[in-house]
Amino acid sequence: MGVSLPRKELFDLPEGMIYLDGNSLGVLPKGAAERAQRVITEEWGGQLIRAWNSAGWMDLPRVVGDRLAALIGAPAGSVATGDTLSIKVYQALAAALKMRPDRRVILSDNGNFPSDLYMAQGLIGTLDQGYALRTPAPEDVAEAITDEVAVVMLTHVDYRTGRMHDMEAITKRAHAAGAVMIWDLAHSAGAVPVEIAASNAEFAVGCTYKYLNGGPGAPAFIYARPDIIESVQPALSGWLGHDAPFAMERDYRPAMSTERLRVGTPPIVQLALLDAALDVWDGVDMGDLRAASMALGDLFIAEVEARCPQLRLASPRDAHQRGSQVSFAFAHGYAAMQALIDRGVIGDFRAPDIMRFGFTPLYLDADDVIRAAEILEEVITTRAWDDPKYQTRSRVT
Ligand SMILES: *Cc1c(COP(=O)(O)O)cnc(C)c1O
Repeated sequence: MGVSLPRKELFDLPEGMIYLDGNSLGVLPKGAAERAQRVITEEWGGQLIRAWNSAGWMDLPRVVGDRLAALIGAPAGSVATGDTLSIKVYQALAAALKMRPDRRVILSDNGNFPSDLYMAQGLIGTLDQGYALRTPAPEDVAEAITDEVAVVMLTHVDYRTGRMHDMEAITKRAHAAGAVMIWDLAHSAGAVPVEIAASNAEFAVGCTYKYLNGGPGAPAFIYARPDIIESVQPALSGWLGHDAPFAMERDYRPAMSTERLRVGTPPIVQLALLDAALDVWDGVDMGDLRAASMALGDLFIAEVEARCPQLRLASPRDAHQRGSQVSFAFAHGYAAMQALIDRGVIGDFRAPDIMRFGFTPLYLDADDVIRAAEILEEVITTRAWDDPKYQTRSRVT
C-alpha cells in the first residue's frame, strides 16, 4: 500500500482554483522553488564553475534519469535527461532508422502530437533517402504495421482525446514485423502505470513538465533498452554524449551507456527543480494513482453528461482505454474554456473544438471534480461563453 491520495499539502496550489490542466503544465510542488533558489544563489552564485563537481551538477542528469526510470518501469541507468521532448523524439527516431537500414517507412498515427510528426518530417527531409511517414487513424495502426515499416513511433496516450494504445500488443506486433518501437510517454509518465522495460520497446521519450510537475521548459527524457544501447548511433553527437568529454578528442566516440543520448550542457536549474518535484512521488503506488485517476475521470464524465447535454464526450468512455484526461467536443469550446478559466476552473482547449480536462490525483479530489462540473454547467446553460471577451484567441490555448 502506498501513501493515500491526494497529497495536496505537497503543492503550492492557488487558493480557490480548480486546476484541471496538470496534463499540460503541472502544479508547483512545495520545496521546488527553494531548491532552485539554492542552486542559483549558493551553487552558481557561491561556487561558480566548481559546482559542476562540488555540487554534483555533472551527475544530476543521471540522478534525475534514475528517478524517472523508476516511474516508467525502467532499470537505473537506462534513462538520459535534457533538451526538450521534440529533440528526444528526433534522437530516438534517427537512431531507430539506423537500426533498419533496408526499410523506408515511419509509422505513426494521425492523432499524434504535431511536434512528433513535424520532427519526423524534418528528419526525413534531412536524410533525403526516400523515407515516408504514414499516419493512419489510431485504431488502424496495428493493421498498418507491415514489413516495410522501419519504425513504429506512437504517443501512448493521445493528447487530444486521452485514448490509450495497448503498449504491449502494439510493441509485440511491431517486433513481429521486424520494426523498431518508440513510445512517447508525454501523457503517460506520472499519469498511468508504465512498464517500458517489460514492453520490450527499444525506445521511449517523454517530457517532465506535464504530470511530473517539473515546471515550464523542464528537461525531457529518453529511454533506450539496455541491450541495444551500445549499438545506438547518436544523430546528435554532442560532446556530453562522448565517452570522455574532457579528453577533448577530435573525433566523436559515444559513451558506452545511456550517456550517449546526452547532447550538450545540462539545464541545471531546471534539473534541480525537477529533482525536487519528483519528491511528491515518494511512496506513491502507481496502481493506487491509476485507480484514483479513473474514478475522477468517470465522475467528471457522469457529472458533465448529466448537466451539459450540449457537450459530446471525445474520450473513450471506458476508463481502461483512457489516460488521465477527459475531453469534450463543443463547437464554442474555446470561448467556453475562457469563461471557465475566468471562474477559476483551469482546463485547456485544443483545436478544432476540444475542451480538455486533466485529472491529477496527487492534487485533485472528487469535490474538485463536482465543483468543476457545476461551474461548467453554469457557463453552458447561461451561455456565459457568448461574450465578446471570450472570443479572442491567445497565442497559447
Ligand atoms: C507535450 C508534447 C510535446 C511537446 O514537445 P516539447 O519539445 O517539450 O515542446 C511533444 N510530443 C507530445 C506527444 C507531447 O504531448
